[in-house]
Amino acid sequence: MSHQPRTAVITGASAGIGEATARALAREGFHVVLGARRVDRIEALAAELGGQAFSLDVTSKDSVAALAACIPQASVLVNNAGLALGLDPLESGSDSDWETVIETNVLGLMRVTRALLPALQRAPHSHIVNLGSVAGWESYKGGSAYCASKHAVRSLSRTLRLELLGRPIRVTEVSPGLVKTEFSLVRFHGDAARAETPYAGLQPLTADDIAECVRWAVMLPPHVNIDEIIVKPVAQASATVVHRAG
Ligand code: NAP
Repeated sequence: MSHQPRTAVITGASAGIGEATARALAREGFHVVLGARRVDRIEALAAELGGQAFSLDVTSKDSVAALAACIPQASVLVNNAGLALGLDPLESGSDSDWETVIETNVLGLMRVTRALLPALQRAPHSHIVNLGSVAGWESYKGGSAYCASKHAVRSLSRTLRLELLGRPIRVTEVSPGLVKTEFSLVRFHGDAARAETPYAGLQPLTADDIAECVRWAVMLPPHVNIDEIIVKPVAQASATVVHRAG
């Protein structure tokens, strides 16, 4: 019997949910492989967790191929890299924001999954965890590209479950509501004051809360597939309906 630790690949591990998930899976004994564009951050995290860091841009075919070439076997893939850009109505939306969101959240996830499926199939059993969003279940004003991208992630998770049926590969989608990470700062192009507004007067989820959902689904026995987890702060009833104190 092999005593090699199982490998978990986490995209977008330089911040927020990806970083917290890397920590949670490392605590469970996984060898964590961290991908992101901000290499200084993932190198520091990899050193701390005894994992590996890879410069990864999921929008680049070459970058994804280079990552896959270095991973002979993987037990877990967490497709976490993602972002929203802006909150403009569709009629005044920006082409470059739309393209980045769709390239990253949809095509990036598809590319990484396709590239890593051979490595996932070399493990006795494996697990793909996709980070969706409540924006994959509901639409909201100003969310055109982001909501479309997360609806696509939900569809892709379901498609994979159908296509991989009969193989020991689980597919889980975790769909959070409001989580306080760098997400909002990225969405509002670095405007720190505006980035605080979604969280005003309520207690948002933390990245650790989402990492715990991923960890729980991954650590269940390999015959148990958690299809979908929707997780929101108690002060959030839907994508847009929240209770703010004061
Ligand atoms: P975050 O703190 O901004 O982290 C996003 C991560 O994605 C970063 O590590 C970033 O790394 C990485 N990333 C972005 N573009 C990338 C690219 N082209 N290639 C590789 N990595 C890339 O946001 P977060 O909240 O943790 O978001 C993680 C996931 O959760 C996303 O898919 C997001 O849509 C989803 N989500 C978040 C919330 C929320 O409220 N926060 C709610 C629902 C769903 P680099 O910049 O270093 O590349």
